[in-house]
Amino acid sequence: LTDKLEAIFKKLKGKGILKEEDVDAALKEIRIALLEADVNFKVVKAFIERVRQKAVGKEILESLSPAQQVIKIVYEELCELLGGSTSKIKLSPNPPTIIMMVGLHGSGKTTTSAKLARLFKKQGRRPMLVAADLQRPAAIEQLVTLGKQIDVPVFHSYEIKDPRELCKDALKKAVIDRADPVIVDTAGRMHVDEELMRELQDVKNVLNPHEILFVADAMTGQDAVNIAKSFHEKIGIDGVILTKMDGDARGGAALSIKEVTGKPIKLIGTGEKIDAIDEFHPDRVANRILGMGDVLSLIEQAQKAYDMKEAEKLKAKIEKEEFTFDDLKDQIRKMRKMGPIENILSMLPGANKFLKNIKIDEKEFVKVEAIINSMTFEERKNPKIINASRRIRIAKGSGTTVTDVNRLIKQFHEMKKMMKQLKHGKGFKLPKIFPF
Ligand code: GDP
Repeated sequence: LTDKLEAIFKKLKGKGILKEEDVDAALKEIRIALLEADVNFKVVKAFIERVRQKAVGKEILESLSPAQQVIKIVYEELCELLGGSTSKIKLSPNPPTIIMMVGLHGSGKTTTSAKLARLFKKQGRRPMLVAADLQRPAAIEQLVTLGKQIDVPVFHSYEIKDPRELCKDALKKAVIDRADPVIVDTAGRMHVDEELMRELQDVKNVLNPHEILFVADAMTGQDAVNIAKSFHEKIGIDGVILTKMDGDARGGAALSIKEVTGKPIKLIGTGEKIDAIDEFHPDRVANRILGMGDVLSLIEQAQKAYDMKEAEKLKAKIEKEEFTFDDLKDQIRKMRKMGPIENILSMLPGANKFLKNIKIDEKEFVKVEAIINSMTFEERKNPKIINASRRIRIAKGSGTTVTDVNRLIKQFHEMKKMMKQLKHGKGFKLPKIFPF
């Protein structure tokens, strides 16, 4: 999906002005890309419609190109589709919080129950696991083993055959032991069937859970979505944990579940190990899907920190070859307002690849500012007058060395040379995001 969307946006970016046909063509391709990623077709239809309406009705943001605007809308809608903001597990103000885990066999329900218990333990709580999947003795054993691994008590019995009875006992024990939260692993089946739903309903009535979490295997794509829907209709769920997100799932389940069930994905399983569980962040996932790093937050930050009118002024200065040290200082200030330089660079598409081995030293920018501050008004405007004795004075004043001062002056001259070449070359166009 990421590759497909990247290609679609690349095509859009090649165009200066977007006509309605361009947007339509892009939407058509996005539609196919989503369907190919196994996203539910109704979800795709509604999604495309929302993007189209926003794209048509949107007032033009001066600082964004038309292509960037479409990307921004797609991004915002993807975030919404994935649930908007991160949804946490609700904890009851009157402990113990009771969490009922439901799902089919093999979805990862038992493993995920233990993963959750471990998370709560790490937060300093006293979780208790309950082995209420009495269909398979192996399930009880599995949970007991996992409980030992993470040092969390597992309430279980090989004699009790009625899960309702077991759950009642478990709740009593939890109160006595002041356990909180209580995480109940319930029975699963290969398929959704009436008997299972009846059993889960009975267990729900006994537990009166604060949260019912549906565990779904992301690898099963559309099936996971349909099963989530059945569970929600029959039992009512509060959220979803999508497991096996480390596999090569096509992403369709993640993109459809919220829209189909109305319930958010709260956590994701990312491996077989007990610590392989993460919060689900819709914005980060949307970013990853778009495959452009955090390019959109970059655009937003750039918008805030950078006024286009100023950019025009700067452009004029560069064209008239009047760019001074004061302008350089100003530009550095503006860039730094956007956040640490490394963060900014890492947000650029593909930047991570070549940034891996480069360490950017924020202190360098502080140094540059200090050096410029130590220059006189005249020196900033006309660096040619900065001779050897002036360099020594500037180094002393800024707490740097003459070598630092020399380097900056050299870089400044090189930059001006580059600006000149740009101007006399193919015509000079100021980059939208970066002032230089
Ligand atoms: P249950 O039948 O629903 O209780 O499922 P289990 O907890 O027994 O898990 C079924 C299989 O899926 C086991 O082999 C787990 O190790 C594996 N599993 C569970 N969660 C994940 C996950 O997030 N990633 C991967 N790769 N495997 C998982």
